[in-house]
Amino acid sequence: MSVSPSRLAAISAANNYRTTKTVDFAGSHSAGLFGKNVFNDKIMQQRLPKAAYKSLRKTIDSGTTLEAGVLDIVATAIKDWALERGATHYAHVFQPLTGITAEKHDSFLEPDGRGGAIAEFSGKQLAQGEPDASSFPSGGIRATFEARGYTAWDVTSPCYLIENANGVTLCIPTAFVSWTGEALDLKTPVLRSMKALDVQARRILKLFGHSNIAMVTATAGPEQEYFLIDRNFYLSRPDLLTAGRTLFGAKPPKGQEFEDQYFGVIPDRVLAFMHEAEAELYALGVPVKTRHNEVAPSQYEIAPIYENANIAADHQQLMMITLKRVARKYGLECLLHEKPFAGVNGSGKHLNWSLGNGTQGNLLEPGHTPHANMQFLVFCAAVVRAVHRHGALLRAMVASASNDHRLGANEAPPAIISIFLGEQLADVFDQLKKGKARSSKAAGTMHLGVDTLPVLMKDAGDRNRTSPFAFTGNKFEYRAVASNQSIAAPLAALNTIMAESLDYIATKLEQAPRGKFNEAVAGVLTEIAKAHGAVIFNGNGYSEEWHQEAARRGLPNLKTTVDCAPVLAARSTVDAYEKFGVLTKRELQARRDIVIEQYVKAIMVEANIVAELVSTKYLPTAMRYQTELAQNVAALKAAGVKPDARLLSKVTGLIADLHAEVAKLAELRGHHAKNPEEEAAHLCHAVLPQLGEIRRCVDALEAVCPDESWPMPTYEEMLFIK
Ligand code: ADP
Ligand code: MG
Repeated sequence: MSVSPSRLAAISAANNYRTTKTVDFAGSHSAGLFGKNVFNDKIMQQRLPKAAYKSLRKTIDSGTTLEAGVLDIVATAIKDWALERGATHYAHVFQPLTGITAEKHDSFLEPDGRGGAIAEFSGKQLAQGEPDASSFPSGGIRATFEARGYTAWDVTSPCYLIENANGVTLCIPTAFVSWTGEALDLKTPVLRSMKALDVQARRILKLFGHSNIAMVTATAGPEQEYFLIDRNFYLSRPDLLTAGRTLFGAKPPKGQEFEDQYFGVIPDRVLAFMHEAEAELYALGVPVKTRHNEVAPSQYEIAPIYENANIAADHQQLMMITLKRVARKYGLECLLHEKPFAGVNGSGKHLNWSLGNGTQGNLLEPGHTPHANMQFLVFCAAVVRAVHRHGALLRAMVASASNDHRLGANEAPPAIISIFLGEQLADVFDQLKKGKARSSKAAGTMHLGVDTLPVLMKDAGDRNRTSPFAFTGNKFEYRAVASNQSIAAPLAALNTIMAESLDYIATKLEQAPRGKFNEAVAGVLTEIAKAHGAVIFNGNGYSEEWHQEAARRGLPNLKTTVDCAPVLAARSTVDAYEKFGVLTKRELQARRDIVIEQYVKAIMVEANIVAELVSTKYLPTAMRYQTELAQNVAALKAAGVKPDARLLSKVTGLIADLHAEVAKLAELRGHHAKNPEEEAAHLCHAVLPQLGEIRRCVDALEAVCPDESWPMPTYEEMLFIK
């Protein structure tokens, strides 16, 4: 039997894989490795004059502007450090609205005018860059002829070195804005929202009588899910290569139904990859912590320890890039698409989020008796109010053609945004609705009936995987975020709507009569519990009853990106973002337009691939088989044997269906839309389902055509040969 070349190559890669040592944690302990390639606090302290160090530290810790004169000193120190480490170039790294990471590299070398060159790097070069803005999406903010765009150093996010076998590049995290000062990136709104959150959170803390209050920052710990498949398969699947997901593929005989993947033993090649990826991430100062097998076959997860949310967002981008790059060294491809394979779980990115500072700690820490912890309840109630008012926005912030496949598909959180508070807190909120909260259900301990096992401390609430936004002890977990998405936009949204709620509460409390503060707090809490309690839901988010119940409660259920896009520039969004200086109406409208534009492009590319693969691969294969079957029937007839033509008619029928469905697709693609919104809706409601119809025919053919002639790697091969 002949086997497809990619299968042979992958089998050989999996079979012949031998661990070669690429990282040596024994030689260089991970603690020594950590931050090795980062211009971090320790290096700053070593290399900067005391005054410059202090000034830079102040900017980082309290959000003040960097003092004049310090910039050049810092630039020289960074340059010297980078050159000693072998750097030849520096790059301003930014996140344009495509969500990818962009970088413009410049050499340190400057001609000295006498035929030689010297390494130069001024404060201005550190602080400001000027990439052409016209080739990035701007949603109409920039026209091609007005191309100027600027990158500006984000002092709060450390510079780092990216090592390549042939050289080293100094990377400088930057914000990216247009000549008119409008944000063209994802970082700018994060920074602006962090500032807004700080101001509003400190108002509340002040009301609670704190005098020493450090800058409050949002914290984030994003858990990244991903697939790894043998790269031989990836390269032989044009759909994976171009669209990031399989557009065809019959269900394998075995999927994830045995539930034998989650937390299963990690395959050797994959574990070796993880070690190396983690070593690289350690060197970059990304505090990766957890790794495990995920629910679907060949699916994994990596999670860092939480950090300042702005830095976490930068680190998350580095993590995605590193996973992809290192996987290739192991003959693997890292798939970050939300739904690379139909029929098994997709990937998400759970964004754990909280807020806090060095003086008051984590502001979402309830303690053992949350009902009595008024300050915690205020912050928690602010989240409840924010999510209730802006649930549609939180859904819209994670909308994309790829995430639409995941949300609401009974494996990932539903498209309805609700909050899971857990039993203990939900009970406190129920009490608040009626008036004052007087008790907290105890967490308790758990005895396992075996004396040698420790007594376990029980959490006060169970977990709920079906909730898109869950309280998990001392933070919220925004679970609807997409696996290949930057966390920046969802993060900025959370910070902004939280700032809005805190502002609302602070304004009320500031008006409380003297000596009546506690009553005022109780009053606000009860008011919020009553007005916004509808967003709290502790039950099964996958159930049909919840969909009906959510509709009764008036919670939006935005199923697709097309439904979501308008929310990005809706009145409620603009009001919140403008009030706190995060984004203007025009910037928001631009973002809305880009989401639609990207959606249209994504579905168009998928339609192109489907049409191409059917005519160049699937139809020829099926028709060759049809001929073979016809010849078999004719030969049997000639030999006087009664032929069995059932398979021939089945294949013939499927080919006819396929022709018909492809013709329908062509017709649908002839549709002329009046505007991008209408085009997106047409692609969503007509073209996308039609791709599914075509897939149905091809997958049925895959089930009957001879394995050795099938032109593409199968699900079974991709998911299980590892
Ligand atoms: P789980 O609740 O899922 O068991 P962990 O405590 O292991 O979680 O945390 C999961 C993720 O949440 C990790 O990335 C962790 O760093 C992050 N996390 C924990 N505390 C916070 C916090 N205060 N703010 C933001 N993220 C946090
Ligand atoms: Mg997980």
